[in-house]
This record gives sequence, structure tokens and C-alpha cells, in this order.
Amino acid sequence: MQWFPKTKLGKVNLALLAVLIGLIGCFFVLLNNNQTGQNLAGAVQKISDEPAKKKKQDANKVVVTSEKSPFKEISYTTEQSSSDKYTLMYPTTGIPDVDKAIQKKIYNKRDKYIKSDAKKLVLSIKSTTSGKKITFIVKQKELQQNQSVVTSAQTFTYNRGTKKLRTIQDVIKTDTRLNRLSKEARTKLQQKNTALNISAKKIEQLTAPTWKNFETFALDGTNLKVYYQPHTFADKLTAVTIPLSNLDKKYDVPVFSLNTHGKKYVALTFDDGPHKTVTPRILKTLKKHNAKATFYMLGNSANAAPAIAKSVVQQGHEIGNHSYGHENLSKMTATQALSNIERSNALIKKATGVEPLTIRPPYGARNHGLEQQLSQPTVLWSVDTLDWKTRNAAATLQVVKQKLHPGAIILMHDIHSTTADALDSILTYLDNKGYTCVTISQLEGKAQP
Ligand code: ZN
Repeated sequence: MQWFPKTKLGKVNLALLAVLIGLIGCFFVLLNNNQTGQNLAGAVQKISDEPAKKKKQDANKVVVTSEKSPFKEISYTTEQSSSDKYTLMYPTTGIPDVDKAIQKKIYNKRDKYIKSDAKKLVLSIKSTTSGKKITFIVKQKELQQNQSVVTSAQTFTYNRGTKKLRTIQDVIKTDTRLNRLSKEARTKLQQKNTALNISAKKIEQLTAPTWKNFETFALDGTNLKVYYQPHTFADKLTAVTIPLSNLDKKYDVPVFSLNTHGKKYVALTFDDGPHKTVTPRILKTLKKHNAKATFYMLGNSANAAPAIAKSVVQQGHEIGNHSYGHENLSKMTATQALSNIERSNALIKKATGVEPLTIRPPYGARNHGLEQQLSQPTVLWSVDTLDWKTRNAAATLQVVKQKLHPGAIILMHDIHSTTADALDSILTYLDNKGYTCVTISQLEGKAQP
């Protein structure tokens, strides 16, 4: 301890030195913090400059802060801009690819907001977990010129194990499960739509089995929640919650008619096709009346006439599965029946590009064991036109006139020219009676005949 000053003056000097060192230390700490802040702001500015150059000055005023999230390796970053009146908030994982992908989407929202005439944008985060997956639900509230608030959402599902973002495709995996998700979401929206404020067509578009329709989702362990953006349902953010177990649940209750809440909707169905000459005639007449129908195809026939099968889908109609070659499924074991249906599913998908949404067993001959295993609902009918038996256009029209009711599922066949002959007058009759034609999956099914 020789260097320790013994004089009083020496001690004062030492104290001053200590203070000075302390001050310098503080200075460096401050400088360091500041640099971190600048770096962050710099990075922010760099990204924000590209899509919205005019905001260059404003980007300088963005204050970036970071706070803890409920997950130890993840923080929530807040970017606040005084001039543009926005507060962004998003999760930061420390994994560069993940953070870049998240920022890209958040900045996309910010840039859209800046270009809009909305007055304020505030983001907030909620999270749900499912095993190692965390879903961050970023709520986006925008204050409009007229003081109304429009809420929308973006979701990010992050797997803490693999350190990657998961898409809906990663979660759902197969076409069959996507079809089920579509059907489940459709049923939920149909149930919410008791006042029929949303058209059947809109519901069909929102829930069509495409990955895009389900990209804003959250997982909470037992459910998949699908979010719909504003303006979808009267400006409110709406979501439907679907138990994940439903995606693998089997349907064992057949549908005989549709629940229309008393409105005049009807479903025309055509079995046994596609047929070389009759199906194109039917498509032409449907187009003339701007009507949509469901075609229960044979896998075998779709395979033999793929161009016609495909044109059915291209014209906006729905496809169902009517077995491979019109076999009586009730006379098979459940396993045989299932393999028949799966073979037909595959052939129809190969021809049309889409998997059939529902199944109609030939002759309405149900195989109960099969129904326990199907992931596609069984759809029968409430009005049998007997077109296959009478082979007479006037007689076919007559049955429709006598038995028509809201929610009717009408059975016809697109292999008889007399059915094609009858269709124009049937559609004219439906038009005159104020009926709208829907496809099977556009409305909720009713189990009671
Ligand atoms: Zn048939």
C-alpha cells in the first residue's frame, strides 16, 4: 500500500480523482447507452426509409424502447413516433431471421397507415401458448378521421424449440385437414350469421380452403383461432375459435338439407358425372342464370374426362365425391368403402386440383362404419327429382315445383340429356320464386331429413 498518500492534501486529491473516475465512468455508460439507442434508431430508419421516403425526418424522432415479455428470451420492442402519431409494438426474439420477418410485417402495416388518412395507430401485444409454440397477437388500433376506431390483427406463431416462425401450413399440414378447417370455420361463421347479414358467397370466399384465408391465426393449446380483418364484419375484428380436435374428428351424421334460417336458399346437386356432353350443357345453363351447384363426381369419370371436371371447378361450382365407380358402399366393409372413397378423392383432385368437400354415397346407401372414419361429411338430399327414372324434363320440373322448400338439397344427374333439358325451366322457376342457389358447403347442414 505504498502508493496510498499519507498527507491530507493527498487524500483530497484521491477523493477528487475517485469522483472524476466515477464521472468518466458514467459518461461512458451514458455514451454507450446512447450509441445502442442510436444504432437501434439507425436500423429502424434504414428500414423505414425505403418504403416511405417522405418520412425520413420523422424517422429520426422515433423513440425505441424495449421491455420484458412473459417469455425470458423474448422482449417487446416499442417504437414511438411523435410526428406520425404511431406506436408500434412487436416481439423481438434475438433470432435475426425471425425478427426481420416480424419487423417486415409490422413496418408494412406502419407504411400503409402513414399513407392513409387515419389519425393515430397504436399496436399492442397479447400472447397465447401451445407447447413450445407462442402466438403473439399484435392488435392494431387505428383512429380514423371520423373518430371511429378500426381494429385489426397480425399474428406471429413462434416455436421456441426450433426458433422459427410457424405458418398455418406448418400447423395444419394436409389438404384434408385444411378442408376440415375450412368447413369448421364456415359452420362457425354460418352460426354467427343468424341475421344473414353476411352473404353466403362472402362466407364461402372467407373460408375457402386456401392457406391464405387462415394465415392470421393463434394457438392456445386446444384451439385454433382464426382472425378476420376489419371491414369483414361491420368494422369489428372478428375471430372464430375452432377446437383443433375437430380437424381430425370424424363425421357420422349425414346432411339431408341446409339451415337457411327461413331464407330462400336451395342447393342443386348433380350426381354421376362428369359426362362428355351433358355436363357442359348443364354448366352453360347454370352460367346463364348465374347459379352455383354441387357436382358429386365419380372418381372414375373425373379421371376419364379431366378437362370437363376441371371446368366445373373453374366456373365456381363445388365438387363432391360420389365413389369411384358408383359402387354400393353399404355392401362393403368400412375399410373397403374408405379405400374406394380415398381412391376417388385422389382422382378427383388430380383432375380438378381440388379435393371434394363432401361425400354422397351412391343410392344413398350408407356405410355406417365408413361414416365413423370419414373426414368429409356425408350429404344426402331432401328432394329427389327422379330424373334418372322419368327421363322427362317436364316431370323433373314438376317434382321441383311440388317439393321445393328453403334449404332443400335437390338431387339430379348430369348424365341424362333430359335433365339438361329441364334445367333452364327449373332455374327460371327458382328465380321467379325468389330462390338463390348455393353450393352444399355454403350453408350449415341439417341432420334431420
Ligand atoms: Zn349416383
